[in-house]
Amino acid sequence: MIKVGVLELQGDFELHHNILRELGYSSFSVKDSSDLESLDGLIIPGGESTTMSLLIDAFNLRKSILDFSEENSVLGTCAGLILMSKFIEDESKVNPLGILDIEISRNAYGRQIMSSVENISIESDSKIINMDVTLIRAPKILKVNKNINVIAEIDNSPAAVFDGKHMGLSFHPELNGSTIFHEMLFSRTTKLNHKNSEGINAA
Ligand code: GLN
Repeated sequence: MIKVGVLELQGDFELHHNILRELGYSSFSVKDSSDLESLDGLIIPGGESTTMSLLIDAFNLRKSILDFSEENSVLGTCAGLILMSKFIEDESKVNPLGILDIEISRNAYGRQIMSSVENISIESDSKIINMDVTLIRAPKILKVNKNINVIAEIDNSPAAVFDGKHMGLSFHPELNGSTIFHEMLFSRTTKLNHKNSEGINAA
């Protein structure tokens, strides 16, 4: 049984548990370092990245999450993507974890309480899959290192990235009931085709 934890410091974690259960995985709450033991993967959900950044340090989770990410996959959605990034443009309130070698800009799709539903396409098992996903004051991915594969775009900017082990999404797939990203990352049985490399299935 695949065991995936959801970081529950703040934000939108409940729907991720629903997606994990729908996929037949065991889902767990992660609130302190000991909760990471024996998990196969971790989700850093959407929410408010400034608050989550403070709480990660307040609960002494920074090193444990980084150690966990050496061996296991991490999925970040929206604020989770911000926290997983290496560089954040014009930002001092978030101390990112640097798990994904990307540069992002916070709130780049709208500074107000702004949300929109976008239709994206990904290629999986050589089929094109279209789906709706939700952006809520979403981060824009400005730069990706060459080890990063772009698996979906919105308005010609990378919106979903994967480095062979970790995945970051600007949007919230869980708000539209999309299970494919969780499945791609944590089951590793679904073939994922993407733009920059051929290596994903080797992981
Ligand atoms: N704008 C939020 C932040 O910077 C992210 C919003 C979200 O996760 N939906 O943390």
